[in-house]
Amino acid sequence: MVDCVFCKIASKEIQSKIAYEDEEVVAFHDINPQAPIHVLIIPRKHIPSLNEATDEDQNLLGKLMLVAQKLAKELNIAEDGYRLVLNTNRGAGQSIFHIHLHLLGGRLFRWPPG
Ligand code: AMP
Ligand code: ZN
Repeated sequence: MVDCVFCKIASKEIQSKIAYEDEEVVAFHDINPQAPIHVLIIPRKHIPSLNEATDEDQNLLGKLMLVAQKLAKELNIAEDGYRLVLNTNRGAGQSIFHIHLHLLGGRLFRWPPG
């Protein structure tokens, strides 16, 4: 999508610190980290939010989780624990409308989240 920051990150039009990429998924370090490890995992396909995902996206959405799991192991946060967050729409804090999974780790997290 033309004016989407995350599409531009996926196509390398905007620079980022890439942690993982393949033909379907890109993961990069968040520019404003909320934890020692804060990586965003996105599909290359532009899906604005979870609300717009369809049955066709089932495997792709599952893959985001499995990439998160692999990165958590690689980044050595799997054992202590990590949090995955998928903000959907403004009330939940979504600010970029290209679906993304936050992988957060390296510190303790409270529950319930703010
Ligand atoms: P959300 O609030 O769930 O939509 O998350 C958007 C996230 O994208 C925030 O944590 C931002 O810090 C992050 N972000 C925005 N622009 C960039 C960028 N150019 N590179 C890396 N992370 C970004
Ligand atoms: Zn996009």
